[in-house]
Amino acid sequence: MNVPRYWRSERTRYGLVGEICRSCGKPIFPPRDVCPHCTDEGQDVHPFGGKGQVYSFSTVYDAPAGYTEYQPYTVALIKLDEGPLVTAQLTDVDNEAVHIGMPVEMVTRKIKEEGENGLIIYGYKFRPVLESKSSRPDRF
Ligand SMILES: [Zn+2]
Repeated sequence: MNVPRYWRSERTRYGLVGEICRSCGKPIFPPRDVCPHCTDEGQDVHPFGGKGQVYSFSTVYDAPAGYTEYQPYTVALIKLDEGPLVTAQLTDVDNEAVHIGMPVEMVTRKIKEEGENGLIIYGYKFRPVLESKSSRPDRF
C-alpha cells in the first residue's frame, strides 16, 4: 500500500485538508498529484478553515441506495473562504431555506451506512453558520 496516499485520503475524509501549490500559490481541494491551476507537482498540505458560502445547490428527492434515510437532502457546491469549490451534503438545515450565498461551515457527520449491519462511513458535511440571536428580529 502506498502509505502517504492512504494517510492523505484519510485526512481528507475527516477534515478539510487541502494543499497550497508551491509553484503558483493557489489553494487546491481536494488534494491531488498535479496542481489544476498550473499543472506543477509540488504542493504543501494545508488545512482549510472549513467555512464558505453556498455557490449553487440542488435538493435530492430520490436518493441512491445508502442515502435514502436523509432524503430529501440538499447537495451544494460550496465556495470555501480560501477559494476552492467543494461539493458536499448540507445538514442541520431546512431544504427550503438554502440559498446562494448562505454562509456555511464544515462538520463531521455520518455520511451513509453500508449494508444491514451498518458499516458507518463518516465524512464532512456543511451546515449553516448560526447567526447570533441579536440579528434575529423580535416580534414585540
Ligand atoms: Zn499551481
